[in-house]
Amino acid sequence: MSLRIGCIADDFTGGTDVAAAFRRAGLRTALVFGAPGPDTPLPADCDAAVIALKSRSTPAGEAVADSLAAQRWLWGHGAAQVYFKYCSTFDSTPRGNIGPVTDALLDAAGASLTLHCPASPPNGRTVYRGHLFVHDQLLSDSPLRHHPLNPMTDSALVRLLSAQTSHPVALIDWRTIQQGTDAVRQALLAHQHAGVRHVIADALTDDDLAVLGAAALELPLVAGAAGLAEGLGRAYPATTHHTPEPLPHEGRAAVLAGSCSARTLEQIAQFYAAGLPSLHLDVLAAAAGRDVAGEALNWYENQDPALPVLVYASASPEELAAVQAQLGVAEAAAQVEDLLGSLAVRLVGRGVRRLLVAGGETSGAVTTALNIDTVLVGDEADPGVPWTHATTQAGDLALMLKSGNFGAPDLFVRALHTTTEPK
Ligand code: ADP
Repeated sequence: MSLRIGCIADDFTGGTDVAAAFRRAGLRTALVFGAPGPDTPLPADCDAAVIALKSRSTPAGEAVADSLAAQRWLWGHGAAQVYFKYCSTFDSTPRGNIGPVTDALLDAAGASLTLHCPASPPNGRTVYRGHLFVHDQLLSDSPLRHHPLNPMTDSALVRLLSAQTSHPVALIDWRTIQQGTDAVRQALLAHQHAGVRHVIADALTDDDLAVLGAAALELPLVAGAAGLAEGLGRAYPATTHHTPEPLPHEGRAAVLAGSCSARTLEQIAQFYAAGLPSLHLDVLAAAAGRDVAGEALNWYENQDPALPVLVYASASPEELAAVQAQLGVAEAAAQVEDLLGSLAVRLVGRGVRRLLVAGGETSGAVTTALNIDTVLVGDEADPGVPWTHATTQAGDLALMLKSGNFGAPDLFVRALHTTTEPK
């Protein structure tokens, strides 16, 4: 079987998010970390594959080259349609990368038009009359206007995208979406005849995104956030194969946390409050040469194997500032990522078969250390936080990669401390 749809995500966390969306739509979905090579494996019978790149804020030329290589790999695995996933807050600058990457992917596909919609209604991102809202505020009035890399000071998507492409950009507004799939298809054709290359669509609800998905099914390239990907996924005819993702239930369970985000700190506090074994890693001691990872392994060996354990470097803002002041930001992060990466390898070598990793960068460090480049996406524990199935040298692994602010405060306890087996 070959892929029905392929996806290029412009960052790692976005990759997990969109992979979970395809899986919710009923597609068996693989997630590939980083640019795939000719030998990168793809699990059998996948309907969708998501390649998670780091192309959101790299120079536009690099983002274009990486995205084109990913598109070729997806085509090589049979994907007739490619989805370009970017952030639901349209993170970009006048130099890109949304415009240049979409133009390059369109050129390579020989296609003349694409549909864009960054709406993500469950997260409060909606598009009306071409303006992007974050809950009750225009994007340009929201905290995103102060984003360190991509400050969003305009909410008008046609204008924002027009600054990033030399081709015409136009809108299909909500009244047309309300008239249904055929009306949207007609509007797309009319724009195509008028020479428009990028069509932005309004969407207020998941139903709107389902209408857009059905109307865009024949387009070689579609672009937006996870919401439109789910709408598109739902428009594909149901698959006949229902191979369940083989998640291992046995073996020990552990959380490795390197995120210092507020939500992760709450999740750590709830794990501790539930009386489950937790260990804080002393980053300064590790930097001074103490065998902090070895000590953590000894601690792990002495815990009740029936209980999940938590090992964390995560720190409060004050503690983080103190460590960074002493080591420098980059060296502190390198120490933590090195510690958690090597611990992941040693824990899996000692029987951990369910592993939850908290932190975007931390997840990258752990998957790299474990030499995992592809996972199969399973059920979500919380929105955008799926279990995945990975294969490592030591054996099969149920792996959950969570970006810092994702998941409910009880996620660690709920996901790992179960008497029943995960589905
Ligand atoms: P998030 O998804 O919350 O942004 P990340 O893992 O992407 O989490 O980023 C957290 C960063 O903080 C990582 O680079 C990690 O190495 C660093 N970090 C974590 N704990 C500490 C600590 N105690 N001291 C210094 N840096 C830390």
